[in-house]
Amino acid sequence: MPVVPPRFRWKTRVLGVGVGVLVIAGSLSYLVWRQSAPGVRVSITPPPRFIGRATPFTMTLEAARGNIIRADVRIVQGGAAAVVLKQSTTGARRLEVPLTVQGAALGLTEGGAMLEVWATDDYWRPWRRDPRAAASMPVTIDLTPPSIDVLAATQYLYQGGGGLVVFRVTGGDSAEVRAGALTYQSFPAGKSGTRLALVALPRDFALGTPVTVTASDEAGNTASRGIPAEIRPRRFRSDTIRLSDSFLQIKVAELLPQHPPSQPLIDGFLLINRDQRLHAEEEKRRVARTTADHALWAGPFLQPRNTKVFSNFAETRAYVYQGKVVDHQVHLGYDLASVKQSPVPAANRGVVTFTGPLTIYGNTVIIDHGLGLQSLYGHLSSIEVKPGDAVEKGQELGRTGSTGLAMGDHLHFEVLIGGVSVTPVEWWDAKWIHDHIGRPLEQAGLPELGGAEARPATNPAPTSARPGRSRRADRQR
Ligand SMILES: [Zn+2]
Repeated sequence: MPVVPPRFRWKTRVLGVGVGVLVIAGSLSYLVWRQSAPGVRVSITPPPRFIGRATPFTMTLEAARGNIIRADVRIVQGGAAAVVLKQSTTGARRLEVPLTVQGAALGLTEGGAMLEVWATDDYWRPWRRDPRAAASMPVTIDLTPPSIDVLAATQYLYQGGGGLVVFRVTGGDSAEVRAGALTYQSFPAGKSGTRLALVALPRDFALGTPVTVTASDEAGNTASRGIPAEIRPRRFRSDTIRLSDSFLQIKVAELLPQHPPSQPLIDGFLLINRDQRLHAEEEKRRVARTTADHALWAGPFLQPRNTKVFSNFAETRAYVYQGKVVDHQVHLGYDLASVKQSPVPAANRGVVTFTGPLTIYGNTVIIDHGLGLQSLYGHLSSIEVKPGDAVEKGQELGRTGSTGLAMGDHLHFEVLIGGVSVTPVEWWDAKWIHDHIGRPLEQAGLPELGGAEARPATNPAPTSARPGRSRRADRQR
């Protein structure tokens, strides 16, 4: 055996000790690193501040290391813990748990409490950790639903018509009026929680469907009250539209340029008449969400002068092509014709919320008159306003035309409440406005809406919806 010189033996020993120290230090820091691995992260949306009779949340748990194996949610009040959730899982990195906390059923009492989320992961740590909540937040238990007083409402609501509801909400944060599946925003009016909402009944609103005011508070407590209105039917006309190949040729090219020439034109037309019409309805509802919280309008709405009404609100149209009925649709406005490229006046004071092409409506302007009330002008050949412009009653918005699904030059005019079309006849009529909007306001002790009209005598008198004189005799759509 070769003899190792003492110098080398000394070096080996130092090396051995060094390696040993390194191994121990490395293992220790590895253990410390494992021990200090963060636990489960918790987020709750919306952030819980109030717990009511049924408060919905979505809790998201995310393990920083390993997987989640347990999750508990408790509400601690006066030293006692009410269990909201106890969940074991086989292991998931991320858990999304929808929760509805039922404050009363849990036996909680009104006042302060702590909401705690406890979560365990399966990540190995060398030392046992003290159990503590992964998240803990103060909440207020509120089990009292808002109270609603319906102060006044339009007495008779008609299919395809509008009305007003005035009510007072105490202890609520939001309130709306529901008519079947439709909801209408409400706006503060006067003091002490008084609110008002304009409502529209679609032309096919099922009689007997309740119209209710609903209110909710931040704790998710809700209340609702029916309104004392009588819902009445209205009859609408029907009409037949004959589709010619030349019309289809022009309109399919304009509204569906991607339509393949190998496919029949009528297929393209049906796509426009159904899908594009639906798309326009959705767009009208979307635009309706941008509305002033007070009335911008003043006095009755203006019907353009010297126009002939040749199509009424909510007319059901049968579309006939080559002798066969190919479609049925409902016309949601008034068609008003005069000379070609006539000036289009704003029906009332407001703010422009939409300009541009709107599928079957062609070039369109929508004006917001506040409180969800809007007017729409379709088939324009030119537009002279832009979104955000404040307009006065009678101000020129553009010129009539035949863009969109129009057969000849005319104005398609609609009045909308919350994006739902109602008959413009009501808003053209000062007496209707007084009887159906003014009266409930008066009963509730509120001032008239749009009462700021300078001098009614100087405003153009509303003309009747009946056909008047026309300089164009040909029928158009
Ligand atoms: Zn029309």
